[in-house]
Amino acid sequence: ATAVLGVDVGGTDIKWVRWANASVVNEGSLPTPRLGPDSVVTAIAHLVGTQPPVGALGVAVPGHLGRDGRSTRLVPNVPGEWAGYPLADRLRDVTEVPTALLNDARAFARAELALGAARDRSEAVFVTMGTGIGGALALGGAVLRGPGDRLGEIGHMPAVADGTPCGCGARGCLETVAGGRALARAWDREGGSAAPDTAVSGAAHLVAAARVGDPGALRILADAGDALGRVLGGALALLGFRTVVIGGGVAPAFEFMRAETARALTGRGPLVGWVDLRLAALGTRAGAVGAALEAASLACSASPYS
Ligand code: BGC
Ligand code: ZN
Repeated sequence: ATAVLGVDVGGTDIKWVRWANASVVNEGSLPTPRLGPDSVVTAIAHLVGTQPPVGALGVAVPGHLGRDGRSTRLVPNVPGEWAGYPLADRLRDVTEVPTALLNDARAFARAELALGAARDRSEAVFVTMGTGIGGALALGGAVLRGPGDRLGEIGHMPAVADGTPCGCGARGCLETVAGGRALARAWDREGGSAAPDTAVSGAAHLVAAARVGDPGALRILADAGDALGRVLGGALALLGFRTVVIGGGVAPAFEFMRAETARALTGRGPLVGWVDLRLAALGTRAGAVGAALEAASLACSASPYS
């Protein structure tokens, strides 16, 4: 079988897996270039060029796609002008490899549903905690995508009235309270760490402080857990699902959020009822694996001209 490459572009770093015979045969990561979409294309093209040949490339993007599914529309947490950027075609042109795009949280969900924590479920809500917060829904055993892969954006559901401005243009979205960047900033304001270099490492400092019982760190994470629980409670009331899978690079923070999240969910009463809050099983490479699964389906259907 042909090998494919799955690439997950995050707000902090780019993770990749080489996928063959239904498993990861090589993997790695590099910092996300901060100079806009061209710099991301160059980094991925360099990666493809230094790997043995692949039959297809799948790229998970931390934002919305255009309706064509091949360009980007809104990427809140990576600098640059992403609106209308023809990412799939640029990548195909420079790498000469058929390329598919998908949203990073939908990629994560695809992998966790097929191979990870939701393998035994046909319905679930997925939450990725990274620089921002991503979301996805599975229904009838498949991840729902919607036009432009925009379905399931739990990170942009309102958590705080008139809150902090969000990268999406609104205020008080869940990710402005519980996303990795928000957690790192809150910890910074608390005087917790000297200017963390990235959102994910800043959030990791916060989690380390929580682990040794720092009250400020515990309070920040409890507030984040409460916000997550209230937003999830609304989503679960709407959907009637019972399973939530939580992953992403900042998911270790959830250990200190879980009690408040569960309390907020219980507070919704029997309509929401008992919720099965699960941690993702595939680790931080889940998004890249989901992108590889997408690439593999492209490789099956690809014509030499695609
Ligand atoms: C974006 C989502 C993305 C998530 C995680 C959010 O800000 O809107 O599309 O999945 O960040 O990267
Ligand atoms: Zn937002």
